[in-house]
Amino acid sequence: MRFKDKNVLITGGNSGIGLATAKLFVAEGANVIITGRDPKTLDAAVQELGPKVRAIRADVVDHDQRESLFQSIREEFGELDVVFANAGIMKPTPAGHTNEATFEEVLSVNVTGVFLTIQSSLPLLKRGSSIVLNGSVISTLGVAGVSAYAASKAGVRAMARSLAAELSPKGIRINTVVPGATKTPIWGSSESADARLSSLTASIPLRRVGNADEIANVVAFLASDDSSYVQGAEIIVDGGTSSLPAGAPIYLAK
Ligand code: NAP
Repeated sequence: MRFKDKNVLITGGNSGIGLATAKLFVAEGANVIITGRDPKTLDAAVQELGPKVRAIRADVVDHDQRESLFQSIREEFGELDVVFANAGIMKPTPAGHTNEATFEEVLSVNVTGVFLTIQSSLPLLKRGSSIVLNGSVISTLGVAGVSAYAASKAGVRAMARSLAAELSPKGIRINTVVPGATKTPIWGSSESADARLSSLTASIPLRRVGNADEIANVVAFLASDDSSYVQGAEIIVDGGTSSLPAGAPIYLAK
């Protein structure tokens, strides 16, 4: 049990990668605080994961909700050992068809929301604690139609390095998990989402999309003492997508 009695905050812990990570941390003995905006999925997560999970409704970019979240954590848990700044959104932003509000919303939730979460966490983090950010391979792949999302995740990856320099003297580690295509509700629940994901498999060397548990395993590694000398680093979890150029020939041995 790597996280026995540790206090773990997961933003966006009511769905997808955040929910899978919450499940893993609970199995490893942690007290887990999950946040999100949707009260139904927050309640469902508590029903599913049990009394070691505390769900608090909070939008990462709402000042008052964030203040109230961290006040509750301070009162109920005292301090935090792990923060997984995971909450994020993906919206199409094709050039020529995107309004300012949509572009700003993606940057606001995915970049500003991450920074403000970390900033609010700092008074509760002691030496030896660990922060994990959630990036994306879309920040480097050059995928069409998602400029805001790509820029936001490049921002997350850059921010982690700057924060690592800042937090190292305090003995706080910060690292980034960088997922490739992973089957979660961010892709929608419709058949078209399934079709979109399966159309991606040809460009993934392992020939399948990832699942949320596979990302959670890496988050837990980065959050745990198993990675005690890993600082300002990224672990890419994408089935090899970003290691090979698109369309690279694969020569099979006879
Ligand atoms: P998801 O199932 O849609 O989860 C997104 C989570 O973020 C939800 O719990 C959502 O909860 C929360 N959230 C969104 N906006 C929020 C806000 N303003 N305040 C608080 N919580 C908010 O999708 P996911 O794939 O697990 O995404 C998790 C992270 O992984 C994201 O940062 C995403 O960019 C990253 N990622 C995903 C993939 C992939 O292929 N799935 C690949 C690379 C990176 P509410 O809706 O209740 O607010």
